[in-house]
Amino acid sequence: MSDTLDWRQHAACGGDLDSWFPEEVRPTSAKRRAIEAAKASCRQCPVQRKCRTEVLERETGTPAEMRFGVFAALTPEERAAMDPVVRARKPVAA
Ligand code: SF4
Repeated sequence: MSDTLDWRQHAACGGDLDSWFPEEVRPTSAKRRAIEAAKASCRQCPVQRKCRTEVLERETGTPAEMRFGVFAALTPEERAAMDPVVRARKPVAA
């Protein structure tokens, strides 16, 4: 059995796509609640560490606006801010 795929069977994010992919949720207050609900579930998820490792590797170099969904309790913007490849592209303020 492959360890790289097996951990997904224990993921807490089985079905509530509006929470984990809140990009289209309106109004903004509902979107914010959906993000917080997804983050709260991720924090309780038994595979959060593996999920974080996998998503950060998979999205390496991807700009924030091209990332979607909440993974491992991180929004697309938070994941992009952790990516050294994306950070290296940002212009340095004068
Ligand atoms: S940490 Fe969150 S996104 Fe990752 S598998 Fe668990 S519930 Fe899903």
